[in-house]
Parts: sequence; C-alpha cells; structure tokens
Amino acid sequence: MASQFTESIMEITTSRNPAESEFHQAVREVAESVEPVIARHPELARAKVLERMIEPERQVMFRVPWVDDKGNVQVNRGFRVEFNSAIGPYKGGLRFHPSVYLGIIKFLGFEQIFKNALTTTPIGGGKGGSDFDPKGKSDMEVMRFCQSFMSELFRHIGPDTDVPAGDIGVGGREIGYMFGQYKKLTNTFTGVLTGKGLDYGGSLVRTEATGYGLIYFVTEMLKARNTDWNEKKVVISGSGNVAIYATKKAHELGAKVVALSDSGGYIVDESGIKLETVRRIKEVERGRISEYVDEHPNAQYTEGWQGIWTVPCDVALPCATQNELDKSAAEALVKNNCIAVGEGANMPSTPEAVDIFLDNNISFGPAKAANAGGVATSALEMSQNAARLNWTFEEVDNRLKIIMKSIYTQCVEASDEYKMNGNLVAGANIAGFLKVANAMNAQGV
Ligand code: GLU
Repeated sequence: MASQFTESIMEITTSRNPAESEFHQAVREVAESVEPVIARHPELARAKVLERMIEPERQVMFRVPWVDDKGNVQVNRGFRVEFNSAIGPYKGGLRFHPSVYLGIIKFLGFEQIFKNALTTTPIGGGKGGSDFDPKGKSDMEVMRFCQSFMSELFRHIGPDTDVPAGDIGVGGREIGYMFGQYKKLTNTFTGVLTGKGLDYGGSLVRTEATGYGLIYFVTEMLKARNTDWNEKKVVISGSGNVAIYATKKAHELGAKVVALSDSGGYIVDESGIKLETVRRIKEVERGRISEYVDEHPNAQYTEGWQGIWTVPCDVALPCATQNELDKSAAEALVKNNCIAVGEGANMPSTPEAVDIFLDNNISFGPAKAANAGGVATSALEMSQNAARLNWTFEEVDNRLKIIMKSIYTQCVEASDEYKMNGNLVAGANIAGFLKVANAMNAQGV
C-alpha cells in the first residue's frame, strides 16, 4: 500500500502529465522506494526535492522535416528533455523508434537521473529522440534525417551543457551523421555526443559497455548467491547492441546463451547462440533474427517475442525494450527455476513482474543499476575528450568493472541501511536519489 507521500507525488505527476503511463510508472517506483528516506530526512522533505525532480528543468519538442529517396517530404517529431543537472551536464541517449512520444522520453530521462548518479561520474539526466523509424530506410535517408534533427538540436546541447548519445535506433552510424552536422553548424570539434567512432573521438569499450557492464553487475549478484556464470543457461531478449555484447561476455565467462529475439520473434539454439551469425544479420545486413535458422538448422524460430521467457534458463536478461517482461513471463521464469534477472533494457519488467521476482528469491538487478555501464563509459568518453586523450581498451574496461562493482555495492548498502532485505530496486533508487537530492539541496531552490 502506497502512503500519502507517494499518492501526493502521483497526483502531481498524473495531473500535470496525463496519458504518459510509462513516466507515471517510473515515478511511482522511485516515490515508493524513497518514502523512508524522506521520512528520515526532514530537510529533503522541506525542500520538496522529489516534487522538484519530477518536473524536467527544460523540455524541447521540434519539427524534423526531411526528404526521402523518392523526393517526398516527410515530417517527424524531435524531443530533448533536459531533466536534471544537479550533479553534471544533462546526459542520456537519443531513441529513434515509432513508439516515441513525450511520455517515453520522460520516463527514460527520469530513470537516467538516478542511473547516472549511481555511475559515480558527474553527469546529470536527460533523454531525447524521435518517432522516426530507421528500419527499412536507406543510409542516405537516415543521414538526411539525422542532419535535420541536429539542425534544431544543436542550439540546445554542448559539451558542458547536454551530451546526447545513442539508444534504441541510434548507433554509430546515426551518431556519426549527427556529429558531422553539429560540427558544420558550430565550427567546433568537441565531445558533444558520445558513442562516436574511434577515429573521431570515440572511446574504446563504449560499443560493448552496456552489455559488458550488465554481465559485470550480474556477476556480483551471482557471487552473492555463491555461484558464477560457469555452465549457466542464459536467455537474452533483443538482438541489438546491448544483447549482442551481453551474449559475448556471458560466453567468455563460461555461460551458454540459448535464445535471442527481435520485434518479430525469437530464436532458440540449445547448442549456444553463434554470435557471429547474429552480428552479421543484425549489424551488417540489418536483417531479421529469423534468418539465423537458415544457417543453423538445429535452431528454432518462433514468431512473437513474448514467448522467449518460457525458454528454461538460470539467468534471464531482458535487453529489448520497456515492459517486455510481464507477470506471466515472470511466473514462467519462476516455474523454470531461474535464479537471477538483470535488466539490460530500460524498465523492461512490469511492476507486477518485479514483485514476483522479489517474492520468489530471484536475484533482481534493476535497469538503472544493471545497465548503467553504457552511460558510465560515455562519461569516460567525455573525460578522454576533455583531456584530448585516448585510453587503452584495458584501461576503460577496468574502470567499467570498478564502476559496476561500486554500483552494486551502493545498492546493497542503501538497501541494508533502510532494511530493505537485499532489495536492489529500493537500493538503487535510494542511493541514486540521495546523491541528486543532496546536490539539489546544497544548490538552493
Ligand atoms: N541510452 C543509454 C542509456 O539508457 C546510454 C546513454 C548515454 O550513453 O548517454 O543509459
């Protein structure tokens, strides 16, 4: 039962932002988690920090006109929500996907505030994107769209103001086109975007970072259960950047990833997913995961991505999108004796699914902690750009490992301090919230 505090936060959130259900969901989880913190810290209650946090500092929405290959004019909508700059410049990805509307960008931006605080690096929270669908578009169409998108976005961002990066639908190709346009418009070569190519200011490990970081985080969760990755059967949803590099690192550590998916359906390969095939289909050919079975006839393809959670596994890593793992999926994982769930996507588990994990002794790593390795490595890219240096792969990877371990420790310690019985959802929310709340409080209303 939520208390008066959570209900009053939700009243403000829903009346000011009607019909933004994902944003409401993200705010409710944080409000419930930090209730005991507010009760213990009257100075934060008086300063109304959460009431201030749920209102973005600034949000921009803009028209993105572009011309397709047939010469037709197309119009999409662009967004950038600059949510919180208490501990550093706004930082967070850009998502290009037809499902994008203000409520999605706000939920992602809100989550980003606490995630970024947990990374131990000095970055605030922001997010942006567009309802543009890169799927099926030619390279030149994507380029024209990115250039038009940046023609408006450039005036709102900067290396010390707001530093976007990738998210769903935005990878190295899109970052390159946007960086080129920013440079033309401003005549400056800066670290204004992260996830850049290695030849023009990108950081080693940034491509792998979210997936690797997820595996490093779940390693700590497994350690707490006196076990490791060796011989673990793993199911990973998605087949984008996060899923691919989570698979790679899980295999390196002795686990066997047996399933991956895309928006059409999922593949199961009991002998272990052959990652090179997936990478070629997805990264080079930009094709469908179903094509995997043409090359590996012992694997099966099933239409519809939801069924992936019925595949028996020890560890489940949802790395596709928000609310992809619901109550019945969580029940299937419990039934199949899954021991750990780590979120690679943002908010992939519904609140009902999270409750089922916590009630059934499944170790659960929430997104804002478990997938923070991507943005943490973006912060390392910003440091290298500011110093005009490039660190080695080992140096960045070691820093990433240290950061993921620290995030885990922060979550456990916060959970212990507030007697949350090892609940890392509460731990992540409390630890992230306290850092930002104290910074906001110190800086005055
Ligand atoms: N989109 C990623 C996230 O959800 C990374 C953002 C970034 O690197 O700024 O955290």
